[in-house]
Amino acid sequence: MSAPDEQDVVVVGGGISGVACARALAGRGTPVRVLERAHRVGGRLSSKPVPADAGRVVDLGAAYFTVRDEEFAAVAESWRQRGFAVPWTDTLASREPDGSWSLKSGPERWCAPAGLRTLVDDLARDLRISSGHTVTSVGPGPTVDGRAARAVVLAMPDPQAARLLAPALRAASVVADRAWSPVISVALGYGHRSWEHLSLPGSSSPIGVLSSTLRLRAAFVNGHPDVDLIADDGDRRGDLAPVLVAHSTAERARRHLDDPDGAIAPVVAAVTELLGLSDAPAWTHAHRWSYASPAEPHDGEFSLDDDLVGLCGDGWGSPKVETAWRSGTLLGRAIADRLGA
Ligand SMILES: Cc1cc2nc3c(=O)[nH]c(=O)nc-3n(C[C@H](O)[C@H](O)[C@H](O)COP(=O)(O)OP(=O)(O)OC[C@H]3O[C@@H](n4cnc5c(N)ncnc54)[C@H](O)[C@@H]3O)c2cc1C
Repeated sequence: MSAPDEQDVVVVGGGISGVACARALAGRGTPVRVLERAHRVGGRLSSKPVPADAGRVVDLGAAYFTVRDEEFAAVAESWRQRGFAVPWTDTLASREPDGSWSLKSGPERWCAPAGLRTLVDDLARDLRISSGHTVTSVGPGPTVDGRAARAVVLAMPDPQAARLLAPALRAASVVADRAWSPVISVALGYGHRSWEHLSLPGSSSPIGVLSSTLRLRAAFVNGHPDVDLIADDGDRRGDLAPVLVAHSTAERARRHLDDPDGAIAPVVAAVTELLGLSDAPAWTHAHRWSYASPAEPHDGEFSLDDDLVGLCGDGWGSPKVETAWRSGTLLGRAIADRLGA
């Protein structure tokens, strides 16, 4: 793929915020190119073949997404109509530190039958994307790796943006010293779905009873040292594959950032104990997210300076898929306005 030219707005980062930003710019007729260091777009909407030689992908990043914003609702509805996304459930299990379980209702959670990454693929259609392109510097001008651009967007977690921005840029001070927490996601593949009819330890209303109408789907695990969330990947994806994904606590992740596989044993032990499983997983896979979520949101929904360097992503509000989409979309429109498009 050719390099961007100076008439392009350059979006660095092909997660949902960067791709949404590029889509908003392209929608206004502004030439835009997305530079993504991975071989595919998606970022933390990550659906990977696991095990590597399996045909089936597993969602290792976001567990699901929610929809509040009216415009994002229209996007989600379009995904639903075309089979990309489905409303999954508004009721998830919750495990308290005292060992009790309950079912909690909340907003509808949406998932993607072919993996959440396909939603970013869909938003990226017809856009100019250079994947496998790692940017190393963004400077005044603005420039990207020394080449002039019309405007530059950094659509990524603050610590990643901080590495690229020249200190002279105001955006550098916006992203400096922002704390983000890590997560290690562990996928656990089993021989069969033994958790369908569970009698959960310490439960006064066992999910085993409720599961004739309600599956486990996902469980928030509160106050546990190792695990924050357990999701049923087969249930959310609709194929009922015997696969769970557990998200570690930040505390557990910090101990294994140099060796994510080291988190597998404690996370598997926690899942086995929490769900009262008698089977061991047939396979496991660990994925490290060094910057899974921000400790604190920024004020506002994006940042755009006079030097035409913009920042967007899920750090600009509640750290969710929807926030990232909205932040990128609004920034794209603001840049188009600034450029008179
Ligand atoms: C474990 C986990 C669980 C989550 N669960 C949920 C959930 O249940 N519901 C929900 O709504 N949200 C959830 N989220 C959050 C959600 O995934 C994010 O809000 C959203 O995906 C952020 O998108 P983004 O575009 O802002 O950032 P990212 O997806 O991080 O995209 C940034 C992109 O920039 C690229 N990049 C970085 N540096 C460079 C460089 N130098 N050059 C080129 N490219 C670069 C990266 O490769 C990446 O593709 C979860 C996240 C994690 C990690």
